[in-house]
Amino acid sequence: MSTRDIRDLSYEELVAHLRSRGENAFRASQIFSWIYQKNASQFNKMSDLPSALQTRLGEDFLFVLPKVLHKDVSSDGTIKILSALHDGEKIETVLIPSSKRVTLCISTQAGCKFGCRFCASGLGGWRRNLTCAEILGQILYMKTIAGGNVISHIVFMGVGEPLDNYDNLMKAIRVINSPKGLNIAARRITVSTCGLIPRIRQLAGEGLQIELAVSLHGSSNASRNVLMPVNKKYPIDDLIAACREYNKATKRQITFEYILIKDVTCTEQAARELGRLLKGLLCKINLIAYNRVSEFDHEPPSRNRIFAFKDLLEKNGIHATIRTPRGTDVSAACGQLRHSEGPLKLNIHRSE
Ligand code: SF4
Repeated sequence: MSTRDIRDLSYEELVAHLRSRGENAFRASQIFSWIYQKNASQFNKMSDLPSALQTRLGEDFLFVLPKVLHKDVSSDGTIKILSALHDGEKIETVLIPSSKRVTLCISTQAGCKFGCRFCASGLGGWRRNLTCAEILGQILYMKTIAGGNVISHIVFMGVGEPLDNYDNLMKAIRVINSPKGLNIAARRITVSTCGLIPRIRQLAGEGLQIELAVSLHGSSNASRNVLMPVNKKYPIDDLIAACREYNKATKRQITFEYILIKDVTCTEQAARELGRLLKGLLCKINLIAYNRVSEFDHEPPSRNRIFAFKDLLEKNGIHATIRTPRGTDVSAACGQLRHSEGPLKLNIHRSE
């Protein structure tokens, strides 16, 4: 019995597989269309394939569906899913509709090894990387519950550090971006990172205009070291230098995510340091008020302080926006739902 999920194959790999089975390569287009455009999850529903090929695909591949443990719908329309993978590992996926776009936030790892001191995703440590099929499976599942909403944007900001699962991430992105796959433009795909410099450089060389969001959350090595241990390996000045290279290679603006913690990250000194650090860089800063996680002592600043810090940044030459929190009534901050659940073991759900 095969243990390989068909969504782990790139288009080129599927063509090669079909050829090795004596099939015509054009069947790969039909199969991709069924999976990624018509959302079929059973080979016997792919009605324009000969029945012998449907049977053969069922023998050669799995089609593993996630087991949904929780589905929460926020009063603002945000839908958050906690699902279990075949081995019981849990991940979160969030659909965020707004008047202009429908964004899907997806996970790339079960757990995270980087332990940022404000994030629930890192609390239980790293468990494993998600496969390409598990990354794409989140999108395919959310398409089935999105109602009339067409998913227009993908952000890799769920559980895990996307660039730490680089090969599977890029394979999934190529399917998301391909007209034969999900056909979502690269500029509508955002990859976030805590600052893995070698991978940022690698991403810059992929020839794709993917949006890059960097979790900055500090204005100096001193402040960033406290909140983000990864800064000890990849110091802030080197990180910003890599961001400048990404700017140059892709012509894309970088988004810096910056968490606002009362009396910690939103001081006048921080605003001045950020002004110096980011001078001349094509970028904007997203200011995010800290979303309480019980394991950490931090508090969000007052509303007045948030706006005052934004003004300070603007005075220091930085374009800043305040991100409106979404889905706060359903624990939509990264890792909150997953962390509130205990370990779980499940059997593979195999399609018929
Ligand atoms: S913020 Fe990102 S890198 Fe840091 S612990 Fe959370 S998931 Fe990991």
